[in-house]
Amino acid sequence: MDIPHIVNNAYGVQSSKCMHLIEQGARVGRIDAFVQSLDKNFMVPVGGAIIAGFDQPFIQEISRMYPGRASASPSLDVLITLLTLAASGYRKLLRERKEMYGHLAQELRRLAEAHGEKLLNTPHNPISLGHISGQPPGPIATEQSRSWAPCCSPDKCREPGSCHWGTSRCVSGHTFKGFMSHSEAYPCPYLNAASAVGITRDDVTLCVKRLDKCLKSLRKEACVEESSTVPPAGENGSAAE
Ligand SMILES: *Cc1c(COP(=O)(O)O)cnc(C)c1O
Repeated sequence: MDIPHIVNNAYGVQSSKCMHLIEQGARVGRIDAFVQSLDKNFMVPVGGAIIAGFDQPFIQEISRMYPGRASASPSLDVLITLLTLAASGYRKLLRERKEMYGHLAQELRRLAEAHGEKLLNTPHNPISLGHISGQPPGPIATEQSRSWAPCCSPDKCREPGSCHWGTSRCVSGHTFKGFMSHSEAYPCPYLNAASAVGITRDDVTLCVKRLDKCLKSLRKEACVEESSTVPPAGENGSAAE
């Protein structure tokens, strides 16, 4: 029906599986362009992306929309990084990333179980892991969305906000429920972790340690609130870690 197909290839460059799927999609179906974030795939600061495709004139047409307006620094950052790493260095990091994915999954599973929560089983996803709360939104979730993101207003179409959980957003008159989440109405809060190029064993250790600390202190806060008849302290802006 001549409907264009754009692929959001976020972390995909570093995954041979994602790149294979894109090639296959273009061969047996239709892919007009695929977009990948620079920071996720090339260890540079957030702010740039690569738009690629299978039809050079079409991609050139897209790039003609940019000259003079976009900053050159993302391109410069990628160039310097790739020259520093060389192909062999980048390939080495890709191998390490793949190894660390298994380690991250194992550590997150251990952490989830220790907190009575669950790591989702997603063997088809080679990069990201989802860790969910076994509980439906309880005091922790609602309190978080209120105190961390006062912009949240579930099921209301409103101006751009920045909350990930329970918000809707209007884009050109269309309402997107649960904008920036992976589903329209996920039944409980969740957290994503990605094993991206450049990740080290120490990164995993530190991340899991900090997450453990956060989960412990959230649980403690929730217990205090539940067992207390007086209003919780911190209505005047207790700090969220
Ligand atoms: C990171 C990410 C985005 C946003 O990409 P930006 O480069 O920050 O614009 C969109 N979708 C998915 C699945 C992502 O992981």
